[in-house]
Amino acid sequence: MRKKLIAGNWKMNGSQSFNSDWVKVIQGALSDLGMKHLPDTMVCVPSPYLSQMGALLQSCPIALGAQDVSAHPKGAYTGEVSLSMLEDLGAEGVIIGHSERRAYHFESDLTVAQKVKATMATKITPIVCFGETQEQRQSGQTQSVIAAQLKAVTDVLAPDFDRLVIAYEPVWAIGTGLTATPEQAQEVHAFIRAQLSAKTCHANALKILYGGSMNAQNAAALLSLPDVDGGLIGGASLVAQDFVKIIASAGV
Ligand code: PEP
Repeated sequence: MRKKLIAGNWKMNGSQSFNSDWVKVIQGALSDLGMKHLPDTMVCVPSPYLSQMGALLQSCPIALGAQDVSAHPKGAYTGEVSLSMLEDLGAEGVIIGHSERRAYHFESDLTVAQKVKATMATKITPIVCFGETQEQRQSGQTQSVIAAQLKAVTDVLAPDFDRLVIAYEPVWAIGTGLTATPEQAQEVHAFIRAQLSAKTCHANALKILYGGSMNAQNAAALLSLPDVDGGLIGGASLVAQDFVKIIASAGV
């Protein structure tokens, strides 16, 4: 059975005081919850706060994650952050190919694939994001768009997909309050798993997360779907109490 993963994506939010308050509230809420077994949990924070959050999360069962990484090991790449820096700061995961990076930083499928490949050579877990726009969905292109984004990554990784985590994030659902219906989410998740099955016999072991306006109210319905193995949560992860409610909805 696949253990669920609940990962927060803070995007470009936070401050040193916000961060320490968030961790305090999380600690209290998790202990009030009294769950013996938690799903895997992670919070992906802006790079400047990785060090502070790494220290704060020492006393909390939430792993540290980053929001992007360079495919290059080191050198003249001003503004970039390397995998070895993330390892140095204790990050256990990294989001790659978020739709905001694809849209605002023009990251191509190839760039995303190179970042995933570089990450797979470390102990850091890549959480790679795929999703269609509203227009693509309306014109019936959801599966072809997802298949092309997925193929770019699987082509460079095959046959070793161990540790790969996929996040299906319909672009139209991110930060909009529009959530995929359980039927829409399950349909795409099952499609992704079928595509993976054609490439690896371990497809049933790989986690596929849903992301897109997941919140404390809709999490349980989405997380109970057979091919939804967790969530990538933006806005609601900033509200510590809500993030804990989503963790609780995931059970184990
Ligand atoms: C995200 O940024 O990955 C995301 C899913 O955002 P939100 O939950 O706010 O839609």
